[in-house]
Amino acid sequence: MNSLVIHYQEIALKGKNRPWFIGRLVRNLRTAVSDLDVKAVRSLMGRIEIVLGPTATREDVGDRVRRVFGIANFSYAGRTALDIDALTAAILQDLGDRTCSSFRVSAKRADKRFHLTSPQVEREVGGRIQEARGWKVDLGNPELVVHVELLSDEAFYCFGKERGAGGLPTGTAGRVACLLSGGIDSPVAAHRMMKRGCAVTFVHFHSYPILSRASQEKARELVTLLTGWQQRSRLFLVAFGEIQQQVVLAVPGPMRVIVYRRLMMRIAERIGLARGAQALVTGDVVGQVASQTLENLAVVENVVTLPVFRPLIGMDKDEITTEAIRLGSYPISIIPDQDCCTLFTPRNPLTKARLAQIEAGEAALPIEELVDRAVAEAVVEDFEFPASAKVGPPEPPRISAC
Ligand code: ATP
Ligand code: MG
Repeated sequence: MNSLVIHYQEIALKGKNRPWFIGRLVRNLRTAVSDLDVKAVRSLMGRIEIVLGPTATREDVGDRVRRVFGIANFSYAGRTALDIDALTAAILQDLGDRTCSSFRVSAKRADKRFHLTSPQVEREVGGRIQEARGWKVDLGNPELVVHVELLSDEAFYCFGKERGAGGLPTGTAGRVACLLSGGIDSPVAAHRMMKRGCAVTFVHFHSYPILSRASQEKARELVTLLTGWQQRSRLFLVAFGEIQQQVVLAVPGPMRVIVYRRLMMRIAERIGLARGAQALVTGDVVGQVASQTLENLAVVENVVTLPVFRPLIGMDKDEITTEAIRLGSYPISIIPDQDCCTLFTPRNPLTKARLAQIEAGEAALPIEELVDRAVAEAVVEDFEFPASAKVGPPEPPRISAC
């Protein structure tokens, strides 16, 4: 068995754009395994085959495939000629000395011209395995399912399938810019957008040198982790401490968090637009903290024209935490740091901000100048996974009409 066979589900439904979605998935897979001994990644009649070279391990390749969006399931598979004798012989050989109490064969024909129907193939191959091994056939609840797929010129077989990451291939939905703090929520929000096919650019605000470099280190580590799911990322590190000092001088205490957030939005929008982003993403949750009341969320997003997406908006913290643990971001997020939003923030923030009140509060600030400078001085860092990956230029997104 030296192939991985990958099935996509949702992208199969995308009508006329299907070849484009599949092409993108193949390209993403090629990048994901580009530093491993892989002979080919090819699209074959409704599935994708990865052909392993002699030194590639299934585990290494599987580990990469697990982190590629757009995959319903995948399996380690063997390939033979389109011939029942050859197919059964290969299955028996690969079953080795495996034992099992019951089994069944599940067959699918990608090319209906094959002279046997799927049930006939199941009976024929199943009968021969039963004869050779003496195993009981159980169609309802077998211990082992031998999957057989018949194409035009070749056949695949495998013993069990693993669930893929689901979603849509990264890059098929366009680009978004995510405001990434060092906390638990925003990496999960970014990951959810990636799963829906978005390429994510990251923007982190820090208050170095007023506070330590810890939050920047965390942002880097989080982006490194998340890049495993989209293969290439850009992180903008924006110095926010001086801006906060100016806000402190000009804006009454209770309004400051909202004013900080509106400045972050403006800066992130400017950076996002320059990268071709079509939306901003945050890890906001209704009512989580004072800045996340419905009133305040509305006043914060009012300052930008790009849509603001908040994929976690209706989730509880423990639900987000469970997702962060699964993603692997949780241990990074809980490393202690000093978040810039706690800097110069009084204990009594407004919970029901009104737009006119905040705009009046901002009137004394040289907003354009602050935003221009923050964008111009942002430090840009690029991340790639695997480190040696050759990733082509991004293509424009396409979505089917329905
Ligand atoms: P997280 O929400 O990621 O756990 P947090 O709880 O510290 O971090 P909140 O105060 O809940 O952050 O902020 C809400 C959202 O605002 C964050 O999810 C993030 O999208 C954005 N945000 C807050 N602080 C920053 C920052 N320093 N840099 C970039 N984005 C930030
Ligand atoms: Mg939060």
